[in-house]
Amino acid sequence: MDFVKNQIVTIKIEDIGTNGEGVGRVDGFTLFVKGAVIGDLVEAKIIKVKKHYGYARIEKILEPGKDRVKPVCPVADKCGGCAIQHLSYEKQLEWKFQKVKNCLERIGGLENIEQKMEPIYGMEYPYYYRNKAQFPVGTDKNGRLITGFYAGRTHSIIENTHCYIQAEVNEQILETVLGYCRRNHISAYDEKTGKGVLRHILTRVGFRTGEIMVCLIINANKKKMVKIEELVEELTKIDGMTSITLNINRERTNRILGDKIVPVWGQTYITDYIGNVQYQISPLSFYQVNPKQTEVLYGKALEYADLSGEETVWDLYCGIGTISLFLAQKAKKVYGVEIVPQAIEDAGQNAKINHLDNVEFLVGKAEEVLPREYEKHGIYADVIVVDPPRKGCDGTLLDTIVAMAPKRVVYVSCDPATLARDVKILGEKGYQVDKVSVVDQFGHSVHVETVVLLSKLNTRQHIEVEVKMDELDLTAAESKATYEEIKAYVLEHTGLKVSHLYIAQIKQKYGIIERENYNKPKSENSRQPKCPPEKEVAITEALKYYGMM
Ligand code: SAH
Repeated sequence: MDFVKNQIVTIKIEDIGTNGEGVGRVDGFTLFVKGAVIGDLVEAKIIKVKKHYGYARIEKILEPGKDRVKPVCPVADKCGGCAIQHLSYEKQLEWKFQKVKNCLERIGGLENIEQKMEPIYGMEYPYYYRNKAQFPVGTDKNGRLITGFYAGRTHSIIENTHCYIQAEVNEQILETVLGYCRRNHISAYDEKTGKGVLRHILTRVGFRTGEIMVCLIINANKKKMVKIEELVEELTKIDGMTSITLNINRERTNRILGDKIVPVWGQTYITDYIGNVQYQISPLSFYQVNPKQTEVLYGKALEYADLSGEETVWDLYCGIGTISLFLAQKAKKVYGVEIVPQAIEDAGQNAKINHLDNVEFLVGKAEEVLPREYEKHGIYADVIVVDPPRKGCDGTLLDTIVAMAPKRVVYVSCDPATLARDVKILGEKGYQVDKVSVVDQFGHSVHVETVVLLSKLNTRQHIEVEVKMDELDLTAAESKATYEEIKAYVLEHTGLKVSHLYIAQIKQKYGIIERENYNKPKSENSRQPKCPPEKEVAITEALKYYGMM
């Protein structure tokens, strides 16, 4: 059946789309219905038709789904902040768990994965959980200064000073700032003309310490903030006020923050904790927005890393080093790699204030830094942790991880689809999924965080898996796996790098059967480099360790 614009259809909602819209099918045709939730039966009007899917708007809810709830927030429907507040929190969690499971099964090719999944870690109270907010400032149709959040996919402000997912104290801060600006005729910045002063109000709250930061982002210099002492006097009445600053941003850009911070009152940073680790947070620094659930998430990563104090750990995509510092408390040495230089500076500073001197941070792309360090210095890891952005890990990086042969890989992910893709690749190269946990960091949004523990199969298991997967020639599988193991073992124990050729020579020398293998000399006389004695000793040790001689 062909569908056309303005057509009215009856549709049962079965899933949630990437922007929180309801998803259902009519005669096999997928429709995204804004505002509909799982379980709803709705009459919807088609507003756009694409080749394989379309968009529709609710005309009438024929039967509300049993998990539909009235949002706590009166502007939830209009505001672009919360995508699924009209679905009960329990159902949100169930959907997030299922989403991860489906990805791991369908994309990752992992059967019966549910047996390895822990129950989802939801929030105790899924409101007032964010510690950072950036409220845009504008005017209503009467020219009155307002703040709130943007409506979905636009820059029109939905007026609101009481956001149910932000720190509660924001309401008082926002009313105070708006009152001061209205009295002193400080104008709102206008994106269209580039004129006006106040652009955004940024707040941060240390949930553990109670410290509060207010930063006003202005398209002007400090002088424009007339009688700022009035504002300071009022803001400092708020319990916990620690830092009041201005941020100067005079660019006509969507970027919220400029580079310059002007101190107004108190410190230019606040302090907070995740676990036992202390962080100094400036208006510009990155920091996890839900520290309580971050602790759960990274606690899982730490548990899966299973450290005894002897390990060398690499934390890739380390940001400001949250995971690295968590790990450093239990590991011998931690290396963090991150692409943003400022984040690495913060990471180093955080290591210092926590007196953790067994951490080293490297700036650069993980997929360049790790292969380079491996080639050049033959670096080693007992455990590798990755926490990549949505697009997941680069193929070169996964190859280097496999070559380094850590015992465990802990994969922290904010996108289950790319996680599943990467887990599949690692699975084909000898890493099996042992445990999975899903942690909800962002209630009422469609985002899902997952931690997966992968462990290296020993050579024998790996061979079995490979042979089962494909009736391939056992020789190839066996030799490939064994060579990687031996190389890693030698490197770990002696720091020496040995080639496949040398390993083959030693295996031959001791009569360990070498079937057809590309490393075999073509003739007895062919000139090939000979394995030097110290490498021979090292390889022999490895062969003994693996019970091959
Ligand atoms: N674990 C971090 C957050 C990880 S978010 C923390 O606790 O702070 C993903 C991080 O990967 C971001 O900091 C981003 O800047 C970084 N990143 C993105 N692409 C990268 C790449 N190719 N190599 C290294 N880091 C990268």
